[in-house]
Amino acid sequence: MIVILRPNTPKELIEEVIKEVEKLGYTPHPIHGELQTVVAAIGDERIHHTLESLNVLPQVDRVIPVQKRYKLVSRESKSEDSVIDVDGVAIGGREFVIMAGPCSVESEDQLLSTAKIVRSLGAKILRGGAYKPRTSPYEFQGLGKHGLRLLETARKETGLKIITEVLSERDVEHVAASADILQIGARNAQNYQLLVECAKTRKPILLKRGMSERIEEWLLAAEYILSKGNPNVLLCERGIRTFETYTRNTLDLAAVAIAKRESHLPLIVDPSQGCGRADLVKVLCRGALAVGADALLIEVHPCPAEALSDGQQQIDFDVFAQLISELRPILNATGRMFV
Ligand code: PEP
Ligand code: MN
Repeated sequence: MIVILRPNTPKELIEEVIKEVEKLGYTPHPIHGELQTVVAAIGDERIHHTLESLNVLPQVDRVIPVQKRYKLVSRESKSEDSVIDVDGVAIGGREFVIMAGPCSVESEDQLLSTAKIVRSLGAKILRGGAYKPRTSPYEFQGLGKHGLRLLETARKETGLKIITEVLSERDVEHVAASADILQIGARNAQNYQLLVECAKTRKPILLKRGMSERIEEWLLAAEYILSKGNPNVLLCERGIRTFETYTRNTLDLAAVAIAKRESHLPLIVDPSQGCGRADLVKVLCRGALAVGADALLIEVHPCPAEALSDGQQQIDFDVFAQLISELRPILNATGRMFV
């Protein structure tokens, strides 16, 4: 921590700060400038009391932390990329992973037809919401437990692994019993109690970035899960809310590059929620690959015009097939494997 004092602070008030720094367990190193004094406080910020409380002293201008607030998720604690094992599918390694499927599970036919197509084109994981966080209570809320049964059927028939959203603490146990990856949605991105409950299942957790969440907050949310002993976290950028109206959200690819640098956890991009427009999904997938994403989460529906949720952003089977063929050369060029 660095404590910056106000200009022309008298000697006795500088001494007061130095004593406080010592009292809080740090070794103070004052640096006296022409006008201003700065006190470098040496000590491990993870085990000592934060010095931010010194801001209350009138002679203190500001206190600047040196270490990151997230620890277990940071590259400082683990420099090599983490590879998360999803029941035999590795995410974050050399293989690029595609997770695809409908926004919502709607029927057996809809889910199974989609599962078979996406698997034949190389997807390893099937997405589909059984519990849907809808803005309006009058919109389709998902099939709930029946939706989970359909996802299990699809896994049995295709061998695809399953990712599905868990909306509340109440549902964690039974969703975890069906899913291979628990999805924490943007609306629950900072629901810390839910994060802790999900962490306890030891299942891989795909943690979406909240729609107005800073990168640091996103990484700290992941820290909640790791600090409870579950290292299996996938960070997912899904667009943030901005002033722009041409897109539903603004897909923040810079955040992917930054999170990749800050953290060893795998980075997933969801271009579907990310822009809310089917016509942009392909080009955003290419961008995601270019900035170093490890996997994509894409909404695919047999007939998007008839979808019960997010119809405007889901791509049909033909566009999904085109997308995969367009991604292949980029994957080859970036040295990533894709089956
Ligand atoms: C979804 O994946 O369908 C979804 C609701 O995502 P988000 O939480 O990112 O809005
Ligand atoms: Mn959706």
